[in-house]
Amino acid sequence: MTNNKPLILIVEDDSAIRNLIATTLETQNYKYHLARNGSQAINEAVTSCPDIILLDLGLPDMDGMDVIRKIRSWSNVPIIVISARTEEKDKIDALDTGADDYLTKPFSVEELLARLRVTLRRLSYAQSESENNNSVYKNGGLIIDYAAGCASLDGAELHLTPIEYKLLCLLAKNTGKVLTHTYITQKIWGSSWDNDVASLRVFMASLRKKLETDTAHPRYIQTHVGIGYRMLRI
Ligand code: CA
Repeated sequence: MTNNKPLILIVEDDSAIRNLIATTLETQNYKYHLARNGSQAINEAVTSCPDIILLDLGLPDMDGMDVIRKIRSWSNVPIIVISARTEEKDKIDALDTGADDYLTKPFSVEELLARLRVTLRRLSYAQSESENNNSVYKNGGLIIDYAAGCASLDGAELHLTPIEYKLLCLLAKNTGKVLTHTYITQKIWGSSWDNDVASLRVFMASLRKKLETDTAHPRYIQTHVGIGYRMLRI
């Protein structure tokens, strides 16, 4: 990120919402560029290299999902979808297509800023990780030693089954990002286990019992009901 001021690309055809987001970003010292449709968004993504893209799905010239596909063909820039589509399926499709997070309209300004902070923390952490070429993951009291293949919590070794360990690593490597059930099951079990959400829940519950001191109020792994899970940066 340049000058410590992240550049956010706002893609929104509704001028009232666009202005609301722009004003909000100004108060927080973010820089921003505006795009009113999909083709402007793609152009801006190429020419101004934003740090984060806030993307409306209902655009006048093309569907926001196609904007995600186009941008993902060359860039890993975080994309936060802001959409009036409230169906779980739409959120899941957006995440599986390559979005990092989603917000449903109407959204609160505080919620938007919180999502931006989560994404920026993930970015700066990914940057320092690639600089250090770390084989050890640290997040609060959680440590994963990828080379040794073990994990510990608050100094005590976690006794994980192979699948729990794989799950933990997958979530850790995507800290800050919402992973859908389908994405997780495909990564852990391969496509034959596609959509076996019930099994995933069982493994996730047993992982959480070992990882969370209070499973009713998890600190590390956040549940997105009907959609998936996210490892939070503590
Ligand atoms: Ca729209």
